[in-house]
Amino acid sequence: MDLNTLYRTVIMDNYKNPKNKGLAHTDDYHFVHLNNPSCGDEMNVEIKVEDGVIKDIRQDGHGCSISMSSASVASDLLKGMTLDEALRICNVFFELVQGIDPENEEELGEAIAYTGVRQFPARIKCATLAWKAIEKAIEEVKLNVK
Ligand code: ZN
Repeated sequence: MDLNTLYRTVIMDNYKNPKNKGLAHTDDYHFVHLNNPSCGDEMNVEIKVEDGVIKDIRQDGHGCSISMSSASVASDLLKGMTLDEALRICNVFFELVQGIDPENEEELGEAIAYTGVRQFPARIKCATLAWKAIEKAIEEVKLNVK
């Protein structure tokens, strides 16, 4: 199996069997909605934060396989991280799809499968939509920290 086939498998597996799918709709989660008009993707995320750590991430939406699978991968990878670590990993992912190879690709886990998106600029917003939504949720939670 070559690398591109492996990456495609990661994307299709997460599209067909998404992780953390379905919203909690409870007060202990912070909700963010984002959309990607160029492709028609709609993304909802919820994060549950305790003591500066992301205890849970829920995601739901509809759209293309790139955006939906990426929400699954992001929710799985970022869950359990501190807010600052998750923000840092989001930025490593944004750099990845824009063509900058990460210093430590292991910390991106399955998200490394989106390396090829850099060759399709129109799809970058699909790949980053859920990550942007989670980033926004983290920033909003941080602003409200007491
Ligand atoms: Zn899309």
